[in-house]
Parts: sequence; structure tokens; C-alpha cells
Amino acid sequence: MKFESRLERGVFCNRTLNFRAIKAIGYDMDYTLVQYRENEWEERAYEYIKQQLLSRGWPVGALKFDPQMVCRGLIIDTEQGNLIKANRFGFVKRVMHGTRLAEFDEQRTLYSRTIVELADKRWVFLNTLFSLSEGCIYAQLVDLLDQRKIPEVLGYSDLYEHVRGILDRTHMEGSLKADIIADPERYVILDPEIPRALLDQHQAGKKLMLITNSEWFYTVAMMTYCFDRFLPGGMTWRDLFHVTIVGARKPKFFINQNPFFEVVNDAGHLLPVSTVGLKPKTAYFGGSAVELEKHLKISGDEILYVGDHMFGDVHASKNVLRWRTALILRELEEEVRDCEAFRDSESKLAALMNEKERLESQVCHLRLELQRLRAGGLPQTPEQLASDAALQKQQAELRAAVEKLDHEIGPLAQASTELRSPLWGLLMRTGNDKSHLAYQLERYADLYTSRVSNFLHITPFAYLRSPRGSMPHDPS
Ligand code: IMP
Ligand code: MG
Repeated sequence: MKFESRLERGVFCNRTLNFRAIKAIGYDMDYTLVQYRENEWEERAYEYIKQQLLSRGWPVGALKFDPQMVCRGLIIDTEQGNLIKANRFGFVKRVMHGTRLAEFDEQRTLYSRTIVELADKRWVFLNTLFSLSEGCIYAQLVDLLDQRKIPEVLGYSDLYEHVRGILDRTHMEGSLKADIIADPERYVILDPEIPRALLDQHQAGKKLMLITNSEWFYTVAMMTYCFDRFLPGGMTWRDLFHVTIVGARKPKFFINQNPFFEVVNDAGHLLPVSTVGLKPKTAYFGGSAVELEKHLKISGDEILYVGDHMFGDVHASKNVLRWRTALILRELEEEVRDCEAFRDSESKLAALMNEKERLESQVCHLRLELQRLRAGGLPQTPEQLASDAALQKQQAELRAAVEKLDHEIGPLAQASTELRSPLWGLLMRTGNDKSHLAYQLERYADLYTSRVSNFLHITPFAYLRSPRGSMPHDPS
């Protein structure tokens, strides 16, 4: 058997997790078990959003979906009509108003006193790859609003409400999903290693659960397309799962106590579930995680939930129920590749920055010496004058050396901020610090990885240990 050793396909661990202690594994479907070509999917969604806007008479005919404009982890500021990138402390570090990148001064004026708190409805975190069309159309509509071309909209927040409503409708009414089902080759990436990984887990005695917000008809179509062809001996995806839950309404599934309905036939007809509990190998609609736990008779720390939605999948299940969690972050592969390619430059940059810090510190000490020398008034004696002149000369030399270093540092630092995307940089970084996405990832996801098939390579028996947490005072 070939073991996957590429870093980009690793399973990364924030909190130690022993797979042998995990009795049940819940899986999200869209962008977790089923991988989409996100540009195709989102472009399709975007076109439906556009059609709805056109039918309201909005002047959006010339707009085009631009997948480079936004990325997961950005935050919409619905008060100001901006897309922003924040660091792990919630400080705003990069701003786009409409489709125009804001200048530094503008950014500082707007946000120098602001800390992003996602609990405030002003901020909308782009949680998943499904958010790309949302961010893109919102930014483009802000431009039109600024040009006073959408008179019925009252302001940026109102505009966001319009976009949200249309987006929900686009996902819920059937045409978009019908397009995907009709042409899955175009939208879906087949990966035989995903069913293989789940089969191993199933055979290792884990209870597998499918918990998706998608509708029954769509779930059947996607799971059949992605799984059945790769399963042995006439097995179907239904045989893998102890329980299948569609229309789960996550995050509410993890928070509230909605009733389960049984899906009683292929057409998706529903019947209320009696109090005797859930039946194995059965499909349900709705329900709640609390009821599911009772049925499984397994405690939260023995359940691992794997999903791609930062809030709906990992934040809610971790916060409310303390389930173990894994985030699927497809972009991680590109991110890791870009970082690896930049590794030598990064080391050079770090060495230059160290040298700059050393020289700057010397400048500070010389300045202090001068200050002390001049404390009793301007130097008068020949010795004092000579010392003063010598200190000033040294200072000037050091400053020139720092300036020379800056010429070398500048382009490298610039390239470092433009890794992955010239507009927004790496997903996990904001400048030199961790991004808000990285902060949430560390807080809510015990594990993270680029795709479910990476579990294949660590086996269902792995003991994953978190690295020792680092602090600024650690010796490098
Ligand atoms: P899951 O990831 O398997 O839980 O499924 C996600 C489901 O949510 C899919 O059916 C998507 O079409 C749907 N969805 C994604 N974004 C939105 C949205 O903004 N509004 C409503 N439904 C959405
Ligand atoms: Mg999903």
C-alpha cells in the first residue's frame, strides 16, 4: 500500500485525538463527502442570483462571477459595504469597498477603533466555498449602490438582506440542484479514496452517520454518483451509514431539539418518528444532535463530526455538544504548496528581519547614549563634542544599513503577503499574524485536512497528537 506523505494531504491536529476512542463518525455531505469544482458550482449559483436580480429590474446584466475576488474566511461588513480580512484578534487588516481595495489611510479611519466580533450581526463570515458567489455579488452590488443605480435599496445592510434572501431561495428552489444532477461530471470531482476511507472506518466498527442540510432527492443523487461505483460487491452508500439525516438544518441541528421524520420511500415522503428511537440503516429528515446522541448511547467526546462549514459544522457541534470535530478545507492544498515553494525566500526574509531588528536595537541604544550625554545641556567640552559626533556618525551608518536592508526586505515581504492571492494572501495568515479563519480553526476544529480521503492514509486507528503550542518567548 502506498502511504501519502505530501504535507498538503496531511491530517493536522489542534487537539490530540485517538481514533480508537471514536465510536461514531458523522459526515457532512456537500464539500465534505462530495467535492465540487467550486468555480463551476458557484458560477452556476451566481447566474441564478443574477437572474433573480434582473427580474427585479436591477442593472446587473454585465456583471460576471469573479472567483479571484473573494475567498473563504473573509468577513462582510454589512454596515460599511466592505469585505474585510481580520487577524486572530479581530483587528481589520485589509479592506475592499465594493470591488475597490481601500487605501491604508481609509482603512485606518474606518477601523482603527473596531474589533470584529462575529456574534454581532454586522459581520458575516464567509464560512464555506458556497460563500464565494455571495461575497462576489455583494461587492459588485455595493458598487452599483454607490452609483445610485439600485434606488429601492436603503443602504449596505439592506442590500445584504436582499442578497441573503435571494441566495437562500437560489439554494432551496430546485433549479440549481437540478442542473448539478443533470451534469454531475461538470460540477463534481469523483474521488474513489473517499468511499474507501469510509469503508475502512465502517469495517473497523465505527458507526458512520451522514448529516447534511441538503434535501433527500439531492443527497440520493450525489451520494449515488460519488459512492456506489466505488463500493464492492453491490454495496451502496446506504449500507455504509448507520443513520442518514437529510434536511438537518445545521447549525440548529446541534442547538435546538427539532423532531425527526422518517424518510419512508425513494420519493422522500416523510412520517413522524415515534418515541421508541431511531432505526439503524434508516434515513431521517430534520431532528437534533441531542436526540441522536441518546439513540446512539455514545457521549459527545466519542463522536467525531467532519464538515466544511466553519460555523454550521464545527463551531456549533464543538460549542454546544463538545463533539470532536474535523474541518475539511480544500484550499489547504494550494496554501501548503505555495508556502513550500516560498520556504527559501521565507527563511531569507526571516534572517533579514532578524538582522534589521539587531541594527534597530543598536540605533535605539545609541540614541539613548546621546540623550544621556545631552541631558545636562548641549555638549561643551572637546571630549563631549567628540563623543557626540562619534555617536551621531555611528547612528547615521546604522540607519543607512537598515535602509539598505529594507530594499532587500521590501520585495520579499510583498511577495509573502501575496502568496495564494495577490488580493487577500494566504487563508491562514493576515500579514505576519494568524488570520481570523486560523483563529476559528484552532478554536473549534480538533483536526483539519484538505479532503476526507486523507483519512485513508492515517487509518481508522491513528493516534493524532497536537504539536506543543508555541509562544513568542519560546527559543527559536
Ligand atoms: P451540507 O454541506 O451537506 O450540510 O449541505 C449544504 C446545503 O446547504 C446544500 O444543499 C446547499 O445548497 C445549501 N446551502 C448552501 N449555502 C446556502 C445558503 O446560503 N442558503 C441556503 N442554503 C444553502
Ligand atoms: Mg458542507
